[in-house]
Amino acid sequence: MSAQFYIVATPIGNLGDITLRALEVLKSVDYIACEDTRVTRVLLEKYNITSKVFDCHKFNEKERSEKIISLIKSGKTVALVSDAGTPLISDPGSVLIKELHKNNITITSIPGACAITAFLSMLPRENEEFAFIGFIPRSKKEQTEILTKCSHTNCIFYESPNRLIATLKNISDSFGTDSQIAVARELTKMYEEVKIGNVSEIIDYFETHTLKGELAVMLFKKELKNESDEELINKIKLLKEEGFSIKDAVKIISVLYGENKNKIYKLAMK
Ligand code: SAM
Repeated sequence: MSAQFYIVATPIGNLGDITLRALEVLKSVDYIACEDTRVTRVLLEKYNITSKVFDCHKFNEKERSEKIISLIKSGKTVALVSDAGTPLISDPGSVLIKELHKNNITITSIPGACAITAFLSMLPRENEEFAFIGFIPRSKKEQTEILTKCSHTNCIFYESPNRLIATLKNISDSFGTDSQIAVARELTKMYEEVKIGNVSEIIDYFETHTLKGELAVMLFKKELKNESDEELINKIKLLKEEGFSIKDAVKIISVLYGENKNKIYKLAMK
C-alpha cells in the first residue's frame, strides 16, 4: 500500500537542513498540514513548493484530525510538518497520530533535523543512554522531581532563554554547584554556540553574554562521589526549603548519592 500520510521533518533553523526526500514528498502531496502557515510558507517559497497548506496546531488538532482522515479516505495525500524539526517532538500531532492509527491509515516518517539529535551528536558522553523530558516544568519542585527521576542517566530538556538562569540556579541548589551542564543555543543558525561546564560556570557565562534564541540543555549524569555528612545535611536542608517533605528529601538524596536511605534519614533527623 502506498503512503497516505507523511510526517516530514523540516529544518531547526538553517533552511538548508532538509532532505531531498522531504522536498519530494512536500512537492507531491495534495495537502500540507502545518503548525503555523506563515512559518511553513517561508520554507515552501524557498523550495518552490505549491502544495495546498492548512493549519493544524494544538488548539484545533482534534477537528483537523477529522478533516485529514476524510481527505485521505477520499484518496488525497497529506503531510504533517511543525514549525521546526521533527513533528511530535515537543510539538503537536499526537492526537492526530492516534486517530490515524485507529483508522488504519498508512503513516510514513521522513526523518531529518531534530534539536535533540543535533545536540546529542556534539556532546562528550560515556555511553548511549539519555532521557529526554521535553520542555522542563516551570516550578522548582517539579523540576527537581523530574530531574531526580532521570538522574540515573544524562538528561536532555528544552528551556526558554528567559527561564534558563532560574532553572540552572535550581539545578545548582538541588544537585550541587559541580553539576555538569551543556547548553546549546541557536543550533544550525548564525549564532550557534554550545557551552559545557559546571552549572556555576554556565550561569556566570549566560549572565554576562547574550541569552536569546532557542536552547537545549543537558544535565549530565552525576558521577557518584562520597559527600561528607555535613554536605548531605546541607542538601537535605535546601530540599526542605524548596518545600520537599523529609521523606521525599531523603529519597532524593539517597538516589542521587547512592547512599543508604536509613543513613540519610538519621542525618535528616539531626
Ligand atoms: N520539533 C522540534 C525538534 O525536532 O527539535 C522541537 C520543537 S519545540 C516546540 C522547540 C524547542 O526546541 C525550542 O524552544 C528549543 O528549546 C528547542 N530547539 C529548537 N530548535 C533549536 C535550535 N536550533 N537550537 C537549540 N534548541 C532548539
